[in-house]
This record gives sequence, structure tokens and C-alpha cells, in this order.
Amino acid sequence: MCIRDRNDIVYLKRLERMRTEFLANVSHELRTPIFTVQGYIETLLNGALNDEKVNKYFLDKANHHTINLSNLLNDLIDISMIESGEMRMSFRYFNVNDYINQIVKEIMPLAEQKSIDLIYYPVKDGMQIFGDKGRLKQAFINLLTNAIKYTEHGKVEIFIEEEQKYAKIIIKDTGIGIPPGDINRIFERFYRVDKARSRAVGGTGLGLAIVKHIVEAHNSKIEVKSKPGIGSEFSFRLKK
Ligand code: ADP
Repeated sequence: MCIRDRNDIVYLKRLERMRTEFLANVSHELRTPIFTVQGYIETLLNGALNDEKVNKYFLDKANHHTINLSNLLNDLIDISMIESGEMRMSFRYFNVNDYINQIVKEIMPLAEQKSIDLIYYPVKDGMQIFGDKGRLKQAFINLLTNAIKYTEHGKVEIFIEEEQKYAKIIIKDTGIGIPPGDINRIFERFYRVDKARSRAVGGTGLGLAIVKHIVEAHNSKIEVKSKPGIGSEFSFRLKK
């Protein structure tokens, strides 16, 4: 970019600040699981390995944190690819019922583990929507795993409302909900309402930022309505 005026300088400075903040966040997010795993391994080496009562517990904990670490790395790779403009999109029409049924089948074990009903209400047979199947799958999976992660009792439902030119996709849960003061920030990278809770369920704080990018790459907008203690509803429109 060629710098022309003060506005450009202000813009570049802001970009630089965002980059520095992002790096600081990434380093911090990486440090937590690495230090924790290190701690467990040291404890095991210092004698806990031979203590039948705790050795498996420590190994399970270390394993849990390495899973978090690999989730984080995968999300970081995705977000850097998306934000550097390397996300190549491949749009086409596809059958919506077949597509969502397949995703629901893949996510079902997660819901079953928590005794949550995961329900898709099919639309009329043969209805097609337009988008990048692979990218959209990632958005669906992020939204559905969040809905399951942040729900303790009840259900997660997927509806489609047919509009004239669009299909409005709605993912609704009966979970903990999002406080009004946080709702505008949840799509920011690394923003979480409750950090400890997000980490405990394997969250990275990047899932919704990735969803937002993918939905916007479809010329659409992700919307959210939520009531603490009642549940949340995420929605976006796709061309049909
Ligand atoms: P995380 O990996 O922490 O889940 P996300 O970017 O996917 O990160 O979501 C950001 C935050 O938004 C979460 O930490 C959580 O506080 C909140 N959130 C997202 N989805 C839901 C939901 N369905 N119900 C309640 N809170 C949610």
C-alpha cells in the first residue's frame, strides 16, 4: 500500500497494534497447556510414576492438555490462512438434507456423551443451497460443538427457514446462554465469557472468529440471540 495521508498512518499503526496483541495472545494461550503438561511430566518423573493411585490421573490430565494444544494449533493454522486471504473458496449447489444429516451423524457421539438431544428438522426433499461445502462444514461443526459444549441439559436443534431467495440456517440450544454484555464480543479472536470453562471443554476461543470469516465469505452475516440460563440461537443465510 502506498502511504498517502494521516489516515493511512493511523490505519497502519492500528494494524501493527492488532498484530502485536494477537502474538501476545497466542504466546499466552500456548504457554498455559505447555506449562501444565510440563508440570505433570515432572511430577511423574519425580516419583508419581510408581504411585498407582495418581499416575494414570496425571497422564490423563497431560493428555487432555495436549489435545487442547493441538486444537489450538489447528485453529491458528485456519485463522492465519483465512486472514492472509489464502482461503480458496469453491462454491456449488448441494442437497441440504443429505449434507446436514451427515454432519449430525458425525457430531452425534458428542451429544450422546452429554445426553443432549441433537435434532435436525429436514426441509422439503431435494432442496439445494449454494456454498463451499468443506468450509461450511467447519462452521456447522464449530457452532454445533459450541452448542453442545455450553449446554448441560436439553437439546440442540437445527432448523431451516425457507425465504424467497435464501435458506436461513438456525442452530439453537438450551444451554447456559451468553450475558448481554459479552454478546458483541464473542466473535473476537480469543474472547471467551468464561476462560476456565472454555478451556475445561477444550475450547480455543477461535471457533466463532473462524465461523464469522466463513459466513462472511458467503456474503452473509452470522447473527446471535441469547438469554442467560435459557439458551442461544446462532443463524445465517445461504443462497438457495
Ligand atoms: P471457545 O473455543 O472458547 O468455545 P468460541 O470462539 O467458539 O471459543 O466461542 C467464544 C465464546 O463464546 C465461548 O468461550 C463461550 O463463552 C461463548 N459461546 C459460544 N457459543 C456459545 C453457546 N452456544 N452458548 C453459550 N456460550 C457460547
